[in-house]
Amino acid sequence: MQNEHHTSYKTTCSYCGVGCGMTVKKDRKDNLVLEGDKEHPVNRGMLCSKGMNLQYAMGDLSDRLLYPEMRRSKSHPLERVSWDVAMQRAAAVFASLIKTYGPDSVGFYVSGQCLTEEYYVANKLVKGFLGTNNIDTNSRLCMSSAVAAYTNMLGEDAVPVSYEDIELADCFLIAGANPAWCHPILFRRIEAHKQNNPDVKLIIVDPRKTQTVANADLHLQLLPGTDIYLYNAIARVLIENGDVDYTFIQQHTEAFEDYRASVFQYTVAEAAKHCEVAESDIRLAASYIAASKGFLTLWAMGLNQSVIGVKKNFSLISLNLITGHIGKPGSGPFSLTGQPNAMGGREVGGLATMLAAHRSIANPKHREEVATFWGVNSISDKPGYTATQMIEALERGDLKAVWIICTNPMVSLPDLKRAEAAMKNARFVVVQDISRRSDTLQFADLILPAAGHFEKEGTMTNSERRISHLSKIVAPPGEARADAEILCRFAKAMGFAGFDYASPAEIFAEHTRLTKGTNIDISGLTYDRLKAEGTVQWPVPSPGHKGTSRLFTDHTFYTTSGKAKFFPLGAPENLSEPVTEDYPLILTTGRIRDQWHTMTKTGKVNRLRQHIDKPFLEIHPYDATARNIRNGDPVVIRNARGETRVCARITDEIKQGVVFLPMHWGRNMTNDLARANNVTSSLVDPISKEPDFKFSAVAVEAYRKP
Ligand code: SF4
Repeated sequence: MQNEHHTSYKTTCSYCGVGCGMTVKKDRKDNLVLEGDKEHPVNRGMLCSKGMNLQYAMGDLSDRLLYPEMRRSKSHPLERVSWDVAMQRAAAVFASLIKTYGPDSVGFYVSGQCLTEEYYVANKLVKGFLGTNNIDTNSRLCMSSAVAAYTNMLGEDAVPVSYEDIELADCFLIAGANPAWCHPILFRRIEAHKQNNPDVKLIIVDPRKTQTVANADLHLQLLPGTDIYLYNAIARVLIENGDVDYTFIQQHTEAFEDYRASVFQYTVAEAAKHCEVAESDIRLAASYIAASKGFLTLWAMGLNQSVIGVKKNFSLISLNLITGHIGKPGSGPFSLTGQPNAMGGREVGGLATMLAAHRSIANPKHREEVATFWGVNSISDKPGYTATQMIEALERGDLKAVWIICTNPMVSLPDLKRAEAAMKNARFVVVQDISRRSDTLQFADLILPAAGHFEKEGTMTNSERRISHLSKIVAPPGEARADAEILCRFAKAMGFAGFDYASPAEIFAEHTRLTKGTNIDISGLTYDRLKAEGTVQWPVPSPGHKGTSRLFTDHTFYTTSGKAKFFPLGAPENLSEPVTEDYPLILTTGRIRDQWHTMTKTGKVNRLRQHIDKPFLEIHPYDATARNIRNGDPVVIRNARGETRVCARITDEIKQGVVFLPMHWGRNMTNDLARANNVTSSLVDPISKEPDFKFSAVAVEAYRKP
């Protein structure tokens, strides 16, 4: 859209998975003015503090990577090179390593902030042409437990609900999430709905009394790691009181009796004791659910980032299944995506165990379908390394080269000292990013400058399966290039055919063709349609199809039997590292309101730093007093893996025995010692391989300078 002063573009926020629409106006000097898109169904014109300041984060070019840089060898400094030299070197190193050590000696680590087209090209390149499945994503650190639970219980990694269900629900159970800070626009819709309908019930499960708790009817402040006890106890009360939907259970689910038996392994009183919540509160939660006509469960990292994350998901989703609250208005399980395009990444097979359109590497037919489509002989049947397995493979020397795109693992991975040592073991590290603020750059042998938000065209999918088109609004600075273009250039330098795309629209068209006939079929979508009609929710199986706001409305699930599956959970013990006399406190990590991930974008915006400008440790007054710690004192948080030094923030909003560190700060933002991940556990869930960020055993003491 154009008038005499400016051109107007539509795009989507590049931060959280809520996926708010934006209108960006550009004048003749490329100055941008951004506002919430009033016509967008997600945010209706609203933006949170991060979104409304995105133009300042992207407009400040002072830290941008502007040209490729390369080391001639490990002992040489980085020096500026041309794109041709950079690509020739990358191709020569990758070809040589693959020839000598085999394709599994190389790997790619990408990001839920990549656009779908970039994710697609990266997966095609690695799985189809390099011959390895070693491509994983930082979404492994946030969503993979929910993915595994959906796939096992519903037969597909498919969020059944839409944001429109918020206004149709009358009971919300929000578990292990702080949407008031981390998914603000979505939470504002819940708040407004509750304000207009005082009978709406809000149950929050969290060891911290966060901002989300402010309007809650019930806060279950459980001990970390005891979630399964809690959800099973709620289920037991519902079953004992007859507040379950037996018609739905009998007709549309399987294994209920096994699940029921596991739920009855312990009493509600015993569960309450394990969770350190009142038995009466468990019964109150069950009564709210029993009385509801629309029941939404919402959750995020508090469930997923756990050594028993998949089981926690099983137990929570089971509450929707026993009550029949799925596939109908205002009801369903709803995992909240942390990143803007974690879901789009999975649509193209962006995990080390997946193939395009949610196909599985373990399925020979799926491998053959994708290999035929891409015109390659075969796809390896060996699952690739997941995020933390890449670190282990680097340690062993099995993984020799790693290519990192749009993510900063040297702040965000757990047990950072170990991750850094492993990275030093790599023979060749490529870092493709937009910012010099990434701590990962110090390990790079080759730096490739990428285009950022507003500087490239593509699509993303938000938490409710809504696909949006993002316009290219300004040119990238210097010699920076769009990620898909860089990957295609590398593929051609390797001598691969099939990467001659004229535009992102062509990549999208190829991706949509590959989804045809699958559960996530979007073969009815084109760029032209997205630009003309706006956002659409998948599946969209034909050109005239309007998209799908709610799944399983006929209660037929994607499992082989068509029925949803319960999973009996056995002994619901937490498998996290135990607290001990030496390390008696449970550390949990998470986000703050105005920062995003490792702060490479939000950290440079003055207004966003004004909310909280330093890392801190939340600690309960009793735990602080016992350690002679006063508010604001420097403290050291330590265990056998390392130590973190920040200042104490004493608050009774955190459970006694639990401490909290924000995850955002890295070396470039403060110093090595402020990093939360110096002390986090490297244990992972055995199914999802998602790390246990929410439970590490630590000691805390006042820090006295020697
Ligand atoms: Fe962006 Fe999420 Fe805020 Fe919306 S809620 S403006 S998507 S950060």
